[in-house]
Amino acid sequence: MHVGVIGAGALGLMAAWQFARAGHRVTVLEREKEVGGLAVNFTLGGTPLERFYHHIFRSDTRMIRLIHELGLGGKLVWGRPPTALRLKEQTHRFDDAFGVLRFPFLSLADRLRLGLVVAYLKVVNDPARFEPYTAAEWLRRMMGARAYETVWAPQLRGKLGDYADHVSMPWFWARVHDRSAALGYVRGGFGQVFERLAEEVRRLGGVVRTGQTVLWIGLDAGQAAVRSGSGVERFDHLVVTLPTALFLRLAPDLPDPLSPALSRGLAAPRGTQCRDRVGKASPLVVLALDPRSELPLSRPRRAYEFSPGLRLRRAARPLPRQLPAAGASPV
Ligand SMILES: Cc1cc2nc3c(=O)[nH]c(=O)nc-3n(C[C@H](O)[C@H](O)[C@H](O)COP(=O)(O)OP(=O)(O)OC[C@H]3O[C@@H](n4cnc5c(N)ncnc54)[C@H](O)[C@@H]3O)c2cc1C
Repeated sequence: MHVGVIGAGALGLMAAWQFARAGHRVTVLEREKEVGGLAVNFTLGGTPLERFYHHIFRSDTRMIRLIHELGLGGKLVWGRPPTALRLKEQTHRFDDAFGVLRFPFLSLADRLRLGLVVAYLKVVNDPARFEPYTAAEWLRRMMGARAYETVWAPQLRGKLGDYADHVSMPWFWARVHDRSAALGYVRGGFGQVFERLAEEVRRLGGVVRTGQTVLWIGLDAGQAAVRSGSGVERFDHLVVTLPTALFLRLAPDLPDPLSPALSRGLAAPRGTQCRDRVGKASPLVVLALDPRSELPLSRPRRAYEFSPGLRLRRAARPLPRQLPAAGASPV
């Protein structure tokens, strides 16, 4: 079976590695010259830096395991940086319940309400109940407009800009629920993890082609087809790890009954977070990271697949953590 993967970020390389390890032929197509996607490194004056800053939590167990498995465990360091809010020229520690209770810019009632909501997010283990909501609407309703506008809205705007009001509540839940006081960092940048992952894919016989922009995605005679500068290539299965809106633009010929939901992007509702799944009936699989975990691919959940009948449907059940070995039944 020949599997194509579009995108050599965390998701694409992780999927490619799993396919290669399961004995499948795999080809990764990546637009940029380097692998790593958002977690890519660049070098400044001989020092490797991350294009975007990253850290992991103690609860990111799959990422921690992956770092060790790739031989980078010696570079993983943990620190306990203080967390603080800077407001009206003053800095306030915001690490724990005491920090919240002493916060001077909210009334006691608002502080208590904020603290209760954070405690609630810590104890709820299943994000499914938050899936219909954006963070802005849920937080505003539960902790009140004042607490939301004072504490969270500036942070969300600072991180997400125009998308701040659209980010999904499960994403926000994960930032609170999974957060540990200790933050982990790979000395020299997380980009190394993905460079190493690409090496592993190649070592297992896979191909990782950088500088390959995919221009069109479609289905052709039961196979997935991709057009790039190198012409049209066909794959038995194609895994797409692009942002959903971009995928929809590149695949204009596919019927997409879910597209309004998918194109909501960050605020995508239940089911649009998905995972790798290969099946004889599904030449095209669209992947997205689980909202619980931005980077480490832990606990991915569902996939959408385009069946030969060209109908986009939800995968009927949660997907296997490990891909089946070559020749085995894919489900
Ligand atoms: C500022 C910032 C801070 C972050 N901090 C953290 C953090 O602390 N911890 C954490 O866990 N996560 C963090 N994240 C999130 C994390 O970086 C991403 O979730 C993760 O890297 C996404 O991986 P991905 O493979 O899904 O997507 P991407 O990394 O976006 O990979 C998609 C790949 O597809 C390629 N591509 C795009 N178009 C085409 C095309 N037409 N043809 C071929 N290839 C194409 C892209 O070049 C890219 O390499 C942060 C993100 C940002 C922006």
